[in-house]
Amino acid sequence: MKIACVSTEMSPIAKVGGLADVSFGLSKEIMTQGHDICVILPNYASLKTSYLDSFEPYPTDLEITFSKKKHQILVWAGKLCGLTLFFIDSKAPSSFFQTDQIYGKQNDGQRFSFFSLAALKFIEQCHPTVDIIHINEWQTALIAPLYKEQACRKSSAKIMTTIHNLNYQGILSTSVLNKVGLSKKSTQLKCLDLKKHNKVNLLKSAIVYSDFITTVSPRYADEITTPGQGMGLDKIILENKRKIKGILNGIDYEVWNPKSDSALAEHYQLNHTQPKALCKKFIQKLLNMPLESRTPLVICICRLVPQKGISMIKSAISHVLKMGGQFILFGSSPIPKIQEDFDQLKLQLQDNPSAKLIFDSYNEELAHQLYAGADMIICPSIFEPCGLTQLISLRYGTVPIVRLTGGLANTVFDINSSSKANGFTYLEPTSPALKKTLGRAFNLYHHEPKKWKKLIHSGMKMDFSWKKSAQEYLKIFHRLIKKSTK
Ligand code: ADP
Repeated sequence: MKIACVSTEMSPIAKVGGLADVSFGLSKEIMTQGHDICVILPNYASLKTSYLDSFEPYPTDLEITFSKKKHQILVWAGKLCGLTLFFIDSKAPSSFFQTDQIYGKQNDGQRFSFFSLAALKFIEQCHPTVDIIHINEWQTALIAPLYKEQACRKSSAKIMTTIHNLNYQGILSTSVLNKVGLSKKSTQLKCLDLKKHNKVNLLKSAIVYSDFITTVSPRYADEITTPGQGMGLDKIILENKRKIKGILNGIDYEVWNPKSDSALAEHYQLNHTQPKALCKKFIQKLLNMPLESRTPLVICICRLVPQKGISMIKSAISHVLKMGGQFILFGSSPIPKIQEDFDQLKLQLQDNPSAKLIFDSYNEELAHQLYAGADMIICPSIFEPCGLTQLISLRYGTVPIVRLTGGLANTVFDINSSSKANGFTYLEPTSPALKKTLGRAFNLYHHEPKKWKKLIHSGMKMDFSWKKSAQEYLKIFHRLIKKSTK
């Protein structure tokens, strides 16, 4: 099978959040299972090309009309762990991606619409026999109507969209459709936002036009059909429910492996977890924290955005310290007000060596060291499509404490209520509920070391690798192709 995946993130060369891990892990597993897959990305100035095995210009003579102007498309080809990647931009001076940021520019709508149009042109011209075009999030959603509305389509690929987070929909001025040449009234009507009728909603357009849609956990697939979590798209999702499925994300078991992780001071594995204590000591030393082996070390690794439960994170920090634990918060906020609040909190805690707030938006090595060194991780999300930090923590023997929502509810099972117990869970999105759960975790850690060890083991034993999830994706791809050849 031939698959072209179009994404705006790829781990580790262009990572903002979980989308990068998924683009890399899923594509690599699909390749490992014997399929021909390439990934198409924007050619960001900030690409960490040192991770690539090769990176060179890919000669083409592609040209597109975007915003009534002709653009010559520049393509580079690269290899990453055997995966074929293509990187796209417009020729200077109209380059869209030679800036320092992946997201957050004022013209994001324009940049990613250009990318969608250019990526589709590239696929059709250079890979005309692909069976599946796999698009991700609103940034590449326009590919669905662009492909389906062509007057004389030469290929017969199927379009699969994956929704990683419904919170981001790409609600833009309708002029964006004219810019990419989708000027037919009937098309524009299909792409209109359901609330703001003078705007288009790119994610909605992908839901309407795609042959199939996945989202990143079964629980989230159900949640987004409700007004509470549907973010205004619940009705359209319900209407299209027959072509939507939740498939749990995996993690890359080569990248995330405490047995061989090159970022770690010591290696460990299931049935030989003692060296994890040395990873804890390493991180305590690195961050100038008291070197206490029996003090619970709690971490939180996330983008500091409302979805992640900002007020609960704050109260968890003070509660952990009050209970005599250590806390490391690692992440940063794209929202200035939230970042200022946390800067303030960091200032207040500067004399407390048991609390470390590290505002680095991306440091892969430190992330690995934290997962290995911690005893517990908190994920108090208000909503969480899948969540990867709890999966990585389970792999590293770090016990997750999570709110029962989305993928967190599909992967973490409470010690009190499940035979598959691997962590602690709670339902109410409130600080008291989280504090109570932290209290239960501390109690078990201090007073029932055997049970604690068992919890670590049952988490490490679980399999959240990409293998099974990739097979589910492939099953859908096969079904879609079979339908079209009937
Ligand atoms: P989201 O996609 O909403 O950001 P996920 O839990 O799905 O959340 O994925 C987050 C990914 O980003 C994980 O791989 C996590 O380790 C990583 N991550 C978050 N913050 C940082 C950081 N500051 N440095 C390195 N990796 C980070």
